[in-house]
Amino acid sequence: MKDQITVTSPLLPDLEEFNSMLKEIWDSKWITNNGQFHRQLEKELAEYLKVPYISLFTNGTLPLITALQALRITGEVITTPYSFVATTHSLWWNGIRPVFVDVDPATCGLDPEKIEAAITPKTTAIMPVHCYGKPCDTEAIQAIADKYGLKVIYDAAHAFGVEVNGKSVLNAGDMSTLSFHATKVYNTIEGGAMVMHDEQTKKRIDYLKNFGFAGETTVVAPGINSKMDEVRAAYGLLNLRKVDAAIEARRKVAERYREALRDVEGITFYDDMPGVRHNYSYFPIFVDEEKFGKSRDALYEEMKGEGVLGRRYFYPLITEFSTYRGLPSATRENLPNAYKLADTVLCLPMHHDLSDSDVERVLKFFGK
Ligand SMILES: *Cc1c(COP(=O)(O)O)cnc(C)c1O
Repeated sequence: MKDQITVTSPLLPDLEEFNSMLKEIWDSKWITNNGQFHRQLEKELAEYLKVPYISLFTNGTLPLITALQALRITGEVITTPYSFVATTHSLWWNGIRPVFVDVDPATCGLDPEKIEAAITPKTTAIMPVHCYGKPCDTEAIQAIADKYGLKVIYDAAHAFGVEVNGKSVLNAGDMSTLSFHATKVYNTIEGGAMVMHDEQTKKRIDYLKNFGFAGETTVVAPGINSKMDEVRAAYGLLNLRKVDAAIEARRKVAERYREALRDVEGITFYDDMPGVRHNYSYFPIFVDEEKFGKSRDALYEEMKGEGVLGRRYFYPLITEFSTYRGLPSATRENLPNAYKLADTVLCLPMHHDLSDSDVERVLKFFGK
């Protein structure tokens, strides 16, 4: 059997360079708690991402949980069902009720036109997701938030390096969070970050991710432990040097997929948005069973049988999981677009390491 083609593949630093950084860490014996590589990675990431302040975390879920704590969000939060479960879990861990609003199929992000109808006296915030790294309509969302006095926290786990008209999408809202998990465009094995607008907030977040310690003997809040260690910060510094080339390699794969799939009956996909620097984190296609002559699941299984691993991402919808399915907003009637996307989506293999022949092997399933 031929080698498997996986849906993603981690960007790995050069092992020799990593080893020499490990040697530095060993020599310094400073292995965590805001060490030199941690400070350097925060500085370099803020520059690369064009954001004023950033705080590193151990993963992409804890900054979501911490953002809600820092902004003292309670009651109900409006969010999208078309995401990874961590988005909604972060609300649950704060005792907040998620209120699901449907997505706009054009962006697969929260539909701003449907947000207002879901606002109640208990609503305190909106938590949108830049799904597949496609920027939400941040201006429309902010206008609603301003009108009703709501906070906005973006789950920007997919949006590393994404810019709109030369400005980072991570600057929208009150805070944005990133994931640096192994499966993402940029990874630190496990890791994540929060982006904020001012130094005061950065300071507070840095306390909160270290148990609330504001000094040797002062604890200012019931914080958590979600500090990134020196080993992963060093790994992150090396990967930051390679990420532009990785995004360019992904762009070429996306271009080839689009060129080949454009005239395939029953298959649709997203084109680049004008003025946006995309990161090509995923390549979702949507399968119209009738026109394509095969269901999404049949296609998925057929590919899998030949060692080509797609991923039904996001399927099932968050609203199908036991924690959430009893909620009043978690119905197919309330969320027709999200259900349709979830029922038809298949993410094709997409990473920096796909060869031309890998891409051709994927395209064979579409008669190409
Ligand atoms: C990956 C991801 C997360 C969680 O990040 P982890 O680093 O795995 O904790 C949260 N939200 C979305 C949309 C994600 O894709």
